[in-house]
Amino acid sequence: MNWLWEESYSGGHMYPVSISPGALKSEEDHRRDICTVGGWMHERGYVASTDGNISLRLDSWRILASPTCMGKGMMSPDDMVITDVEGRKLSGGRNPSSELAMHLLIYRLRPDINAICHAHPPVATGYAAAGIPLNKALLCELVIALGSVPVARYGTPGTSELADAIEPLVQSHDAILMANHGVVTYGLDLLTAFFRMETTEHFARVALVTELLGKQVLLSGGDVEKLIAARARYGNGAATVTKDCPITSESTEAERVTLTRHQLEVLIDEAIQKDRARR
Ligand SMILES: [Zn+2]
Repeated sequence: MNWLWEESYSGGHMYPVSISPGALKSEEDHRRDICTVGGWMHERGYVASTDGNISLRLDSWRILASPTCMGKGMMSPDDMVITDVEGRKLSGGRNPSSELAMHLLIYRLRPDINAICHAHPPVATGYAAAGIPLNKALLCELVIALGSVPVARYGTPGTSELADAIEPLVQSHDAILMANHGVVTYGLDLLTAFFRMETTEHFARVALVTELLGKQVLLSGGDVEKLIAARARYGNGAATVTKDCPITSESTEAERVTLTRHQLEVLIDEAIQKDRARR
């Protein structure tokens, strides 16, 4: 049992012993925060085995990152690695994750953020593997927190492909599904980055339930506009919200096509003929 569990695990529940909002803390506080968030990610099933990685900015040129090849629920503060913003190791007995390049890209493109979480939460990762973005106005909280969550194209882990794939989306979103891989979220501080991971997975679960129920009632464009106005009050600014994203009830209404029974039968007949001609 490591220090974190001795200090924070009681009666089957994890308690946040050290993490609080804010990016200005001592290095020791930051090390403990990464352990706490790693424990939360593992406890919630967002990672298996040694999956996932967490990092934060210590200052303008140093990054504190979780180590590679370690369960994220088993880390101790001394396991963390410090690199410079180019990824060169400055201190630590372990090595940083091969996905550190993705973190460094996000820090470079988003000077406003100070912490990043990467994990493979199963439902959101299922959407990523299906290539389906979480971009429908189904829940008011998701619109306020994230606007929408796009899918970045696939990139091989451990190569520059991974960073290249997310690059076009980093400026305009705070959470990204990585095709056939997982999720990355980031924020002003580590607690915010983790909450965005939790919000993404929670929304994916709700979206999946609506798929199972066979019905989705989307918020209207007017409702979304009011939520966008509320985003400013909550201090959520980065996510891009456009006329078509998130998708509102009007967007789906515009796509709806009404056919008579006869027109439908003609279309089905034509499809069958085309299929026969191909065989
Ligand atoms: Zn990963």
